[in-house]
Amino acid sequence: MCGVFGAFSPSGSSVLEDVYLGLYALQHRGQESAGISWINGEENIHSLKGMGLVHIALDQKKLASIHAGCAIGHVRYSTTGESLLANAQPLAAKYARGPIAIAHNGNLTNSDGIRRYLENRGAIFQSTTDTEVIIHLMAHQSHKPPLDALVDSLRRLRGAYSLSVLLGNRLIGARDPWGFRPLVLGKREDVTYIASETCALDIVGAEFIRDVEPGEIVVIDSTGIKSVRIPVRTTRHFACSFEYVYFARPDSVIDGRSVYKVRKALGEKLAASAPAPSADFVTGMPDSGTLAALGYSEASGKPFEIAVVRNRYVGRTFIQPTDLVRNLGVRIKLNPIRELLKEREVVVVDDSIVRGTTARRIVNMMRESGASAVHLRIASPPVRFPCYYGIDTPTCEELAAAQLDLPSLERMVGADSLRYMSAEDLVAAIGKPRCELCTACFTGDYLQGGDEDGTDL
Ligand code: AMP
Ligand code: SF4
Repeated sequence: MCGVFGAFSPSGSSVLEDVYLGLYALQHRGQESAGISWINGEENIHSLKGMGLVHIALDQKKLASIHAGCAIGHVRYSTTGESLLANAQPLAAKYARGPIAIAHNGNLTNSDGIRRYLENRGAIFQSTTDTEVIIHLMAHQSHKPPLDALVDSLRRLRGAYSLSVLLGNRLIGARDPWGFRPLVLGKREDVTYIASETCALDIVGAEFIRDVEPGEIVVIDSTGIKSVRIPVRTTRHFACSFEYVYFARPDSVIDGRSVYKVRKALGEKLAASAPAPSADFVTGMPDSGTLAALGYSEASGKPFEIAVVRNRYVGRTFIQPTDLVRNLGVRIKLNPIRELLKEREVVVVDDSIVRGTTARRIVNMMRESGASAVHLRIASPPVRFPCYYGIDTPTCEELAAAQLDLPSLERMVGADSLRYMSAEDLVAAIGKPRCELCTACFTGDYLQGGDEDGTDL
């Protein structure tokens, strides 16, 4: 998963610090590297990129001192391509028709084929990211005006992309025709913004204008905002349901739905479908299960307690690349309140189980603290299938729920009871029609072969 941001000022007022702040608010979407590219009316794109968190990778003071009225930024969390500075985004290039820089969130499902096709025709790739195919596809159409070449390149892509693009002195936002990843437009005074989530508009004091629609390209320049369609006919949309379950920040609103409200509704539905009548209280895994636990508590009438305290200076564990680091991370991160748990029966709510490491650890932690029974409730359906659209889920072999049935999983995590929610309840809590949501990692219902048009190269 990644986060993208962009800002354009028609008066040329400097926007680089805004982009820095936007990326800072999107840090939860990627901690591996961060980068900013900018242009200011001239021919060249400049970039600043680095590994690690935004404040480590980028120099805020330096950015604040540079004058540029059009810029994009990216925080990266690798799904394709290794964790290298060469793969940090934005990807910038100069092709026959001028400078371009791209920041991409999502994962393309046909990039390998396109890459082979282009390499056979002489293209030399500089990175191992799927994003680079977009630039090469454009370079192969240098007879067309840049915007037409971009539209034509995008129509050949399958899978997930929410993009923030610098094309000459224009800022462009694009969302794939299936709408996998969020993308929003905002405004503060004369500056127009593009962001992965609304929380990044809030940080720069921008007002939300609207979501970029699935299949829409928005072109922002000194003449205003123009909208162009990507010519791909879709049969349905695939907005990622996992964004609501876990990935997005709760203070964001995606496609008109508050992530906070959805998470609470997930907990309410879980309380109805998977009650734990004998439990004394409800607690949530910090921070991922807290809101669903609140919803569960309200709907069940059982008190909500904070039974596990999180060290707020430790980053999100899942993001760390190795098992060893992940395991150590959880141990450093969480501490139970023994006085609360001793001889009490507790409902623990978490958002999801992937490998099962966190669940086993938390149940164990509660038992060691003296809990008399631990009922684990998961505010999403079992994750049984990998994601091909930009969220780093492991292969089926490593997905606990793909390998074990519910009783075996219950034993594996050591809970007195383990219950998930149904895909129907997930869809109902999000409040969108099922045919607009992706639930593939839960249901195996993938975008089959892509929708129509443009697969020919
Ligand atoms: P695991 O310990 O592998 O079962 O991981 C489950 C925990 O990781 C859950 O508590 C989630 O909060 C979090 N999580 C779930 N899916 C993801 C993901 N795709 N990326 C990062 N973290 C995740
Ligand atoms: Fe989101 Fe799951 Fe679909 Fe991936 S497979 S886009 S994580 S719902």
